[in-house]
Amino acid sequence: MTRPLPTPVVTAEVDLYQSAAKVYPHEISGRFQTLRKAAAWWLLGMFYVFPWLEWDGRQAVLFDLPARKFYVFGLAFWPQDFYYLSLLLMLAAFSLFFFTAIAGRLWCGYACPQTVWTEVYLWMERVTEGSRNQRMRLDQGPWTREKVLRKTAKQVLFVTFSLWTGFTFVGFFTPIRELAVDLVHWQVGGWTLFWMLFYAFATWGNAGYLREQVCKYMCPYARFQGAMFDRDTLLIGYDVARGEPRGARRKGVPSVLARASAPAVVEPAAAGAAGAGASLGDCIDCRLCVNVCPTGIDIRDGLQYECIACGACVDACDQVMDKLGYPRGLVRYTTQNAVEGKGVRVLRPRVLIYAVLLIAISTALVVSLVMRNPLSVEVLRDRNALYRETATGAVQNVYTVKVLNKDQRPRSFRIAVEGPGGIAPTADSPTRVDAPAGSVVPVTLTLEAPAGAVRGRAEIAFAIEREDDPDVSRRARSSFFAPN
Ligand code: SF4
Ligand code: SF4
Repeated sequence: MTRPLPTPVVTAEVDLYQSAAKVYPHEISGRFQTLRKAAAWWLLGMFYVFPWLEWDGRQAVLFDLPARKFYVFGLAFWPQDFYYLSLLLMLAAFSLFFFTAIAGRLWCGYACPQTVWTEVYLWMERVTEGSRNQRMRLDQGPWTREKVLRKTAKQVLFVTFSLWTGFTFVGFFTPIRELAVDLVHWQVGGWTLFWMLFYAFATWGNAGYLREQVCKYMCPYARFQGAMFDRDTLLIGYDVARGEPRGARRKGVPSVLARASAPAVVEPAAAGAAGAGASLGDCIDCRLCVNVCPTGIDIRDGLQYECIACGACVDACDQVMDKLGYPRGLVRYTTQNAVEGKGVRVLRPRVLIYAVLLIAISTALVVSLVMRNPLSVEVLRDRNALYRETATGAVQNVYTVKVLNKDQRPRSFRIAVEGPGGIAPTADSPTRVDAPAGSVVPVTLTLEAPAGAVRGRAEIAFAIEREDDPDVSRRARSSFFAPN
């Protein structure tokens, strides 16, 4: 006989999904916030102003994809200059490794576009919805007329700023002044409009809506930066030994540091004041460091990957320490070794290796830019006929010489041919070419060798030099074919 299975008893239902709680960072001022603001002004200034600057009669910074030319102030880069981009990317990568090894998440806290734009959106939120407490009350309260007005005003600011950001972004790839005129006349192309709206939406979504969640859950750098850290990397740390046990206390209780260095015999008044909180550390558990945190973490819980090292909690705690008359630095930039009393070691093998690589790549980039040849040449043989013979028995080969003048001024170039057996351009072939600024000029050249002077294949070279500066020159090798 089979016995029925017991009915399972459900004691509790656990929801495996938990929506992220909204973070309402409290505004704070201080040394590091001043630095962050300065960095934000500088970076946003570059982004919003650079496309409007003019250089030599054109947009100073323009990545002209259809023409396959990148302009960065006085420099014009062509597809042939691709290796500069490789060097630049290597430089960026090693800079990131170097600064991360020394200063931890310096990039995240001060320069990452996600952080910088989030600060701007937070500022707009403060302007329209008020302080941290006002924002929290507004979100928790019912939909009143005031709430609708404030939320609408915030979104109007958000959307306007996002659209301006999208427009500016596209303005790095399309001449921004023409783009502005096209926009005014509603004559913007479909793809241009798509990218403007896409970038505007991405900015609004990342910095206006998702904010710290991008850093916590989406950013790959947050995940792998731990590999670049060691125990001497700068991070934000809470001094547990000094701060704990935390707790509120009466005014006048001296700091742990003062108590540690105080003489054994103390005045009765001071002893009385100290007695009220003598067992406590320096943290008064005011939670200001938590309330200012843009990622909503409590730094007193120890090192967490969510910490973007923005220094807001350092400034907040310093303010509290100042009010209490305690030394600053309960929460501070420090290293794991320094917290454990093992001192600070800046020069470590990995830092030195990164520094050497960084110097080598920077030097290579600067030297190659300074030595950059503003002339490029490409020679193509006519593929339709290997050679042709004239009535006099002379042999002719046809070539297309592409002269690329990367300079921002029109230039004239001389073309000469070096080869055996008297190979030379025919009388009707051009040996001089005028190339406008930043242009490729193709020239068709016919080379001729006297009858019987060349047999089979001969190595030749085209020597092109600038008329006003023969140091600007290029040699391009090719082959001349004749009957065997
Ligand atoms: S701000 Fe300083 S004193 Fe206040 S809770 Fe944070 S660590 Fe403690
Ligand atoms: S813990 Fe401090 S440094 Fe880290 S993200 Fe929060 S406020 Fe910024």
